[in-house]
Amino acid sequence: MTQMNYTDKTTRVAIIANGKYQSKRIASKLFSVFKDDPDFYLSKRNPDIVISIGGDGMLLSAFHMYEKELNHVRFVGIHTGHLGFYTDYRDFEVEQLIEDLRHDQGEKIAYPILSVEITLEDGRLIRGRALNESTIKRIEKTMVADVLINQVKFESFRGDGISVSTPTGSTAYNKSLGGAVLHPTIEALQLTEISSLNNRVFRTLGSSLIIPKKDVIEILPQRLGNYTLSIDNKTFTHRNVVKVTYTIDRKKINFVSSSNHTSFWERVRDAFIGDIEP
Ligand code: NAD
Repeated sequence: MTQMNYTDKTTRVAIIANGKYQSKRIASKLFSVFKDDPDFYLSKRNPDIVISIGGDGMLLSAFHMYEKELNHVRFVGIHTGHLGFYTDYRDFEVEQLIEDLRHDQGEKIAYPILSVEITLEDGRLIRGRALNESTIKRIEKTMVADVLINQVKFESFRGDGISVSTPTGSTAYNKSLGGAVLHPTIEALQLTEISSLNNRVFRTLGSSLIIPKKDVIEILPQRLGNYTLSIDNKTFTHRNVVKVTYTIDRKKINFVSSSNHTSFWERVRDAFIGDIEP
């Protein structure tokens, strides 16, 4: 790759694409435009802007690739599949994205993300961040877990598991679980039950909880065994989970601000309602 010398004003751009033919085609177009442009420097290391090409899943992967660099990275998504939630540009709008990046003044739109801390019986502590949500489920049998909010026991949960989502993740798995759609200017987490057992013996609230910033959710499994924990599109199995702690992360994800980054409600409408003729 031949690139010109770059200065402090040069924007470092990382291009990440999924394996689809159309995504690779767009990636090579962007490579060929940016490699000859002195205002841009193509680099997967230490980028200012990460362009993800694919769908929401690809943007989630791009987020996790750069989750340690959230302070200076801004993301922008191009979707080559069906309409995405985090992807602002369609595949036929690449020229417009290039123009928008040429006029970019560094403006950003920030959304809250979730901090996850998993404590295992052997003392290991596993930390992660989620853009959409994190879930805990028990594999073999019904999950029994105490739910604590700010270290005070709220309820004993029995069922398949629990999901904790971010505001932008509220339209993903959380929505399928019957959770509410939360505007991302509300810095809150949403705890949603996954198939809770509710009868004369076992009782949980039954509805989703919106937990404000600075509050701490703790899930304490009451039985030994294997648990499946997910963070966005990654899933892990851990034995004997002692505790999972969820809070709003100190950091946020930043997206490139452009006219294509439509309002949250427009995105919700476009993704779920569409233009239905009366
Ligand atoms: P994927 O890329 O196929 O995504 C699954 C679907 O979720 C896609 O249609 C995608 O566009 C949509 N999606 C992702 N994030 C969204 C968001 N914030 N708002 C609205 N729609 C969104 O699969 P993946 O790469 O494994 O993605 C993981 C995500 O899939 C998880 O974070 C979870 O939210 C979602 N998911 C949903 C269900 C469900 O709805 N029953 C089940 C499992 C996972």
